[in-house]
Amino acid sequence: MGKSILDGRQALRKEIDKIAEVAGYLWQNGWAERNGGNITVNITEFVDDAIKALPAISEVKPIGETLPHLQGQYFFCKGTGKRMRDLARWPMDNGSVIRILDDCASYVIIADHAVQPTSELPSHLAVHDRQIELGSGYKATVHTHPIELVAMSHNNHFLGKDVLTKILWSMIPETKAFCPLGLGVVPYQLPGSVKLAHDTLSELEDYDVVLWEKHGVFAKGTDVMDAFDQIDVLSKSAKIYLDCKAMGYEPTGMSDEQMAEMSRAFNLPR
Ligand SMILES: [Zn+2]
Repeated sequence: MGKSILDGRQALRKEIDKIAEVAGYLWQNGWAERNGGNITVNITEFVDDAIKALPAISEVKPIGETLPHLQGQYFFCKGTGKRMRDLARWPMDNGSVIRILDDCASYVIIADHAVQPTSELPSHLAVHDRQIELGSGYKATVHTHPIELVAMSHNNHFLGKDVLTKILWSMIPETKAFCPLGLGVVPYQLPGSVKLAHDTLSELEDYDVVLWEKHGVFAKGTDVMDAFDQIDVLSKSAKIYLDCKAMGYEPTGMSDEQMAEMSRAFNLPR
């Protein structure tokens, strides 16, 4: 084994371990077939002077847009074409650490290997740029393909504003508590397109998790575990809904009063 940027850096290693742990969950849940899904985490808080002094191990690469709040920020990014199941075991061979350059429009890879980041990097970085601008403290973005939530997106009835939010919140009290902003919806767009990135950025103004019609979800979180947990509780509710339907009935769902009681008891934003 060669040297790693993680050697002797316990806090950074712990953060990368969390990313690997979540990548394993995505695979185990059946949400990450082949190279599906992406994780991008802002790790700037773990970057010391020695990391800042590390030379580039790639040529300078354009992001494709200018993101003014990302100057000098560092990210761990899943590699293009890499599999979540491999990232789970060998994060530094299936992802890389990048440094955003002073022009805020380009980056270099600095560690451990010159693994080219995901083709979805511009849309992930645009969300990170917005989080810094807002001072939200959000550090992680996750895209994955949760089976039940994608299945529910194949019915127009569910795609109206907050229709799914209300159904999913009403399946089990914890979903409202642990995904308190609900689930946004982005109508179908070509994967990797500028329109999809733009619509996602816009919907994330009001939600932490957004459903991409007939594709998957995109979540932001304070860290990668927080982003995963919100997808996980929504997915749990979707499974309960589908189990009720499979048993042949429409689930009753918690009443409006029961949900309002949750909001009061746990001081929820909605
Ligand atoms: Zn996808």
